[in-house]
Amino acid sequence: MYIGIDLGGTNIKIGLLNDDLTVQFKMKVPTESETNSDRVMANIIAGVKQLLIKTQTGTDQIKAIGIGVPGQMDIKAGLSIFSPNFSNWDNVPVVKIIEDEFHIPTYMDNDVRVNLYGEWKLGAGKGKQDVLMVTLGTGLGAALITNGQMMYGKSNSAAELGHLNMYRHGRPCACGSSGCLGRYVSARGMIKTVQEHLAAGETSIITEWTHNDETKITAQMVSDAYDQDDQLAKKVMQETGEILGYGLSSAINMFNPERIIIGGGVAAAGNRLLKPTKEVIAGHALKVAQEVCDIVPAQLGPWAGMIGAGVYANQQVTYSN
Ligand SMILES: [Zn+2]
Repeated sequence: MYIGIDLGGTNIKIGLLNDDLTVQFKMKVPTESETNSDRVMANIIAGVKQLLIKTQTGTDQIKAIGIGVPGQMDIKAGLSIFSPNFSNWDNVPVVKIIEDEFHIPTYMDNDVRVNLYGEWKLGAGKGKQDVLMVTLGTGLGAALITNGQMMYGKSNSAAELGHLNMYRHGRPCACGSSGCLGRYVSARGMIKTVQEHLAAGETSIITEWTHNDETKITAQMVSDAYDQDDQLAKKVMQETGEILGYGLSSAINMFNPERIIIGGGVAAAGNRLLKPTKEVIAGHALKVAQEVCDIVPAQLGPWAGMIGAGVYANQQVTYSN
């Protein structure tokens, strides 16, 4: 059996996977990401102990633990260097802390790759050899499988599409650059676009919903307003979808995937967002590449990160021995 852990900003999702990778048990505990790394790691350990007790499983029955962590990391060293979602989080030896506690081989990777491992083995990427995954959440994450292998690059930043440069003088990005794709195509990006249109004097039903408090705008509101035929929401969805289309056209030309999986909370916008995306791709990506590529929604849902972490642990055990 395997344990999968999805370390999110709000919750830690933990699950027990059977050897055939079916989920036997799943649970979540609060992350308390606003505290510090000691507290968050203690919450992970306590959560895993709880899972072992509830499922009456001994540590000797667990072959490996996989954990998906957002942010910058040294995968080989098992070190989470920095994570934007956590307070007081600096060079945390995640793998060592878990291994010292349970004496079970533990493997860490970033949250999007772990997600893709899950979709690849059990979800929307099943049976495919060249798969690009894009997660549209607060920001934009991406991961890539080429010729049946997860791509890492020399410093584990391969396929970081969120920082694909779209504009010469665009919105500043936390990476130090500006005009990055994720600054436009993400929950944060869409909200910023709404705010810009409002600042330019346009009107939207969203301002009624938020009582004119711009900080209360959410990506979900853009979808809801779109469904009420709100012109500004339709414009924002169109713009965001198009920018994603240009970004994906570049990705299609570069990586030649046979499938692009779109996941994350913002993906719930579905064709409101993806229709303009697909139109741009049809007009701009290389024909030879776009003909073999389809775009599909992720299948594993809100537990994808946990499931993927378990799959990742299984892959590490299976292929590293
Ligand atoms: Zn950037």
